[in-house]
Amino acid sequence: MFGGGFGGFPGFGGGFGGEMPGARGGQKSDSTRYYKILGVERGASEAELKKAHRKLALKLHPDKGGDPDKFKEINEAYDTLKDPEKRQIYDQYGEDAIKEGMGSGGGGGGVSDLFDILSGGGGRRRQTRERRGDDVVHRLKVSLEEMYSGSTRKLSLARNIKCETCSGSGTKSGRRYTCEVCSGSGVQVMMRPLGPGMMQQIQQPCSACRATGTSVPSHDLCSKCSGKGLVAEKKVFEVHIEQGHKHNSKVVLRGEAGCSEPNVQPGDVVFVLEQKQHPHFKRIANDLIYEKNITLKEALTGVSAQILHLDKRTLVTSSLPGQVIKPGSWQCINDEGMPAHGRPFEKGNLYINFQVKFPDTLSPEIVSGLKSLLPGPSANGAMDVDDEHEEVHMREVSNIEEELRARRQYSKSHGEAYDSSDDEEGGGGRGQRLQCAQQ
Ligand SMILES: [Zn+2]
Ligand SMILES: [Zn+2]
Repeated sequence: MFGGGFGGFPGFGGGFGGEMPGARGGQKSDSTRYYKILGVERGASEAELKKAHRKLALKLHPDKGGDPDKFKEINEAYDTLKDPEKRQIYDQYGEDAIKEGMGSGGGGGGVSDLFDILSGGGGRRRQTRERRGDDVVHRLKVSLEEMYSGSTRKLSLARNIKCETCSGSGTKSGRRYTCEVCSGSGVQVMMRPLGPGMMQQIQQPCSACRATGTSVPSHDLCSKCSGKGLVAEKKVFEVHIEQGHKHNSKVVLRGEAGCSEPNVQPGDVVFVLEQKQHPHFKRIANDLIYEKNITLKEALTGVSAQILHLDKRTLVTSSLPGQVIKPGSWQCINDEGMPAHGRPFEKGNLYINFQVKFPDTLSPEIVSGLKSLLPGPSANGAMDVDDEHEEVHMREVSNIEEELRARRQYSKSHGEAYDSSDDEEGGGGRGQRLQCAQQ
């Protein structure tokens, strides 16, 4: 016999059964008894099962003089068949598979069913570990203004949902039809002679049902979903961007991803926020950096900076009388940065980085005016120097890094020994590289 052979075949089977409990046996245990216990057909709909169970449970309830063993049996049967996932396992692999699987899954539905029936039924926890569909991840570009003030974006997404018309069964009657060729397993098992007295077992997807395990007669196909149990829809979602959300913050819409199969719980739709670059503000955690260009005149005589904030307020700030703003210097306005996520009244700081635009040239009148106004020594052309002085000329260097790189190349190509650390491009910052080159 070939019992116990499945596991050894690396072919197709693994992809289907996955870790189906009890499936390893290969031979099928009884998969009709539960239906018989409840007195329904194998293809009974969920409503039919529920009705049958309820009727029997009321009749067989031990409090009403029923047989406790029989009562336990019908609960066991119903507990399995009412759960589409367990029912599929039962139909394919039989009772043993269910019993093995339930040992760890905390089956014991009898008591809770009893409770449900006496209290009039109603919602209850699913007892098996639920299989969930994949999450669907979207990246969403968001402006810094939206992250500052919060906003709601509406997005339309396409997804599949369970067909309402047939409750996902794919049939008008709600019945399930097991494929006769593969007995619902979706897999065909073939025997192939290997040699004298030896056979090889081969598994392949069932061609009759295209590996779905069901074959619905055309007259009973649900016309809404053509038997798939799923229908496509477009849904408009509202994505709430909260104050203080950051680049790569996630907004999760639980269970909104739609279904890949009718009876698999849908996964989540996850929006990963992507902060768009802002023309004026840079963000570091909850602090904002604003680069302010001012003229040399403003740097020397006083500046009044107007900053249009992310919520459209205009902040105005002025330098103190006599204060000189140096090129590249920083000023801070406390608590005008980004709101903290979850604590929007707590804000970071706003740092202003001043860039001073110097004039390229000055007229002789302005030069002489400045000379008389500004403190400190000035170059007079004929300097008071000793006889050995030498007149030299300066050349403008527009990009010192480029210049030094060219100098290094020059040294190398002329065979001069160079400290190896100098050759490491990108190692260390600009300062370090400058330092090395100066040595
Ligand atoms: Zn349908
Ligand atoms: Zn089949």
